[in-house]
Amino acid sequence: MKWDLTYLFKTEEDYEKAFEELQPYAEKLASYNGKLDDEKNFVEYFLLQKEFSIKLEKVYQYASLKSDLNKKNVEAASKVSKLMIFFQQVNQMTSFEGPEVLSLGKDKVMSFVDNNKEIEEFRFSFEKTFKNAEHVLDANSEKLMSYFGPVSMGDDLYSSLAVADGKNAEAVLSDNQTVTVTQGNWRSLIMKTKDASDRKKIFEALYQTYEDHKNTYANIYNAVLQADKAHAKARNYDTILDSFLSRNNIPTSVYKTLVEVASTENSSLKKYFELRKNYLGLERHYTYDRFMELASSDKEYTYDEARNIFFDSIKKFPSDFQELAKEAVKDGFVDVYEQEGKRTGAYSSGVIDSHPFILLNYSNTLDDVFTVAHEAGHSIHSMYAASAQPAMLQNYTIFVAEIASTFNEHALLDYFMASSDTTKEEKIMLLQKAIDEIVGTFYRQTLFADYELRAHEMVEKGMPINHEVLSGIMIDLYQKYYGFDLKEEKYKEFVWAYIPHLFYTPFYVYQYATSFAASFKLYKDVQENVPGAFDNYTNLLKSGGSKYPVDQAKEAGVDFTKKETFMAVVERMDMLVNELEKLLNE
Ligand SMILES: [Zn+2]
Repeated sequence: MKWDLTYLFKTEEDYEKAFEELQPYAEKLASYNGKLDDEKNFVEYFLLQKEFSIKLEKVYQYASLKSDLNKKNVEAASKVSKLMIFFQQVNQMTSFEGPEVLSLGKDKVMSFVDNNKEIEEFRFSFEKTFKNAEHVLDANSEKLMSYFGPVSMGDDLYSSLAVADGKNAEAVLSDNQTVTVTQGNWRSLIMKTKDASDRKKIFEALYQTYEDHKNTYANIYNAVLQADKAHAKARNYDTILDSFLSRNNIPTSVYKTLVEVASTENSSLKKYFELRKNYLGLERHYTYDRFMELASSDKEYTYDEARNIFFDSIKKFPSDFQELAKEAVKDGFVDVYEQEGKRTGAYSSGVIDSHPFILLNYSNTLDDVFTVAHEAGHSIHSMYAASAQPAMLQNYTIFVAEIASTFNEHALLDYFMASSDTTKEEKIMLLQKAIDEIVGTFYRQTLFADYELRAHEMVEKGMPINHEVLSGIMIDLYQKYYGFDLKEEKYKEFVWAYIPHLFYTPFYVYQYATSFAASFKLYKDVQENVPGAFDNYTNLLKSGGSKYPVDQAKEAGVDFTKKETFMAVVERMDMLVNELEKLLNE
């Protein structure tokens, strides 16, 4: 039930030795500065880079896993930071690589690749480099641009105001108890609170700060928008959206189709909140009431049971997939239980050519069973990619990262719903969980994506940005998506100030929705016995990071430019909400 890290290094001394062996790579790589125009040097340099990456990843994985087992272990943490510093040094020492490759020109670089099969796995990365090169300016302009880089600091201002200068709020509840409300605890506070006026107080305590600083938050967001606009214009992109999506070669139609579907095909979303309101006996269902549970169960599942349930839930799939699933959760590769100092949450950590490790904090709940299936999905994805791709093409993008994990969850949900062992209470819990995941991942994230698009389009048109404008967009969108009237809910209109992603990484959140939609479409194809559907699915996983994500998905039968891809989520939502309605009315 614990990790066996001797799979990576037999002893701590072996680890130290491997770390020492990394040191000379920095000098060696740097010695190629100014010499990449020679074909032999070029090939040597990139083969050396590959060797270095594989070794570094293994060393890094060992150090970070060890540190995650006990965050209080200072020595383990310092090993991780030592590696980070070393990695930054190497990056600086090899910073000549990008400009030098570009100066060789695409034809020359591609001819080097054509002549030397051993660096074939770098071809895709060179293609990306030269594609982005269209937006690299002449040396003088780049220099000028670099002076203004530090000025675009909307994200720093946001974290100063929201985090560093932020204060924990307090709410006095109806029993005269004072509770501290934080970003971390407010959801569980709402979940536990039976009194509607107390839930209101908790929510308002959390959001008051956005009202207090609404002008500052709006100006910070305007700084983000203006920087994005300047960047897109200076680098000759057609639109700001284009400047963000072109990095992964995502057509803007993907973004717009997603927004179109989620903003119009949402009758089940509205119906779900109506059902909740009636079943929970609420006078009004406020946005924050979404954390209230429709049912609960104290049935427990041991880890062994969870593993077996997961295996049963994928029995209908081909045997090679099942074997890989068993391999993913093999003893020694899963650290199962909570312990003092261990990192919270769950993850799967995969590195080049290696067996992934899963971290859990398993506590016998139904949710935990889903977490096992979810993380096993990530590991299966990594193992498929490692089996089919050379080292440099194994890492997959965030755009496809949540496909395998959520695919397993769909299968597990259907398994539980069909099982006679599952009680009515559990079925309600399961349906709420599955629906809430669609609401949170598909509708809510797309609503934010819609907001970002509208705000950016406004600055493109030169329209002024202030808190009223931003709140106005949110009021409109919440009405359109959920049927919620934010004007009836004090402070909620400032939700644009509450979401850090909007300030830190513009045009990022939509990827949660696309990844999720792809897994539904693939799962639906498999369920409906579309010929070749499961092979399509595993081929997508096997393709790792060897192609642009939209192309990978398209080959698997998921066309992100078409409405039907996103409609798979809508249909699943319809089905689940109808099922929930039946159970609640029984
Ligand atoms: Zn995940």
